[in-house]
Amino acid sequence: RPLVIAVDGPSGSGKSSVSREVARRLGLEYLDTGAMYRAATWSVVEAGIDLADAAAVAEHVRNLDLTMATDPTAPGVRVAGHDVSAAIRETRISSIVSKVATNLDVRAEMLKRQRDLITAGRNGTHQGCVAEGRDITTVVAPDADVRLLLTASEEARLARRAKELHGSADAASVEATRDQIVRRDSDDSTVSNFEVAADGVMHLDSSALDFEQTVDAVLAAITR
Ligand code: C5P
Repeated sequence: RPLVIAVDGPSGSGKSSVSREVARRLGLEYLDTGAMYRAATWSVVEAGIDLADAAAVAEHVRNLDLTMATDPTAPGVRVAGHDVSAAIRETRISSIVSKVATNLDVRAEMLKRQRDLITAGRNGTHQGCVAEGRDITTVVAPDADVRLLLTASEEARLARRAKELHGSADAASVEATRDQIVRRDSDDSTVSNFEVAADGVMHLDSSALDFEQTVDAVLAAITR
């Protein structure tokens, strides 16, 4: 049975980069479920579908030709064979992804696909998977071998994302980032709530840790 490691956390918690590095070190697959919602959103926009038309959005996502590359050294997302890995990170997608992700029929479709990717992998032979997102520990893989909630203070998350997006954590960059982080978490709050870790989920606050320290702490939690 493949090893499953579930990691959840809010935007800017570092869960993507940390999960990817942990997967690489352990020789496991890496699944970025946020990238799946982003790719779905990209495709809905590309198809010119009205985001307010929930039924049309759901129908489009059910038929979506989505391929996730789960190699942690080369993760990527394709829609109908087209590499959208960079496009799905653009602000025009980040700012509306919650609208698509809060569509319950979209979530049901993603849940199915995510479980397939986590348990079977691309060829059914992988050793296991580190899957990260918002509802992995609670909904997608509540029976995972290791379940971890990775959080950081709002201040720390804003500073990290500002550095990523603007190359600096000065006051102006942090303000420019606030909408990306704080508003999206509030838009996503029907999906997940990171105030308390669910029953049986380990909580790691990375506010005072750098990247390497966070990776080490997660690895320690896994091998404990
Ligand atoms: O992790 P990332 O910021 O890339 O996620 C993008 C969006 O995808 C989130 O803001 C949320 O709306 C949605 N998402 C979700 N459930 C997940 C992962 C992401 O609803 N498991």
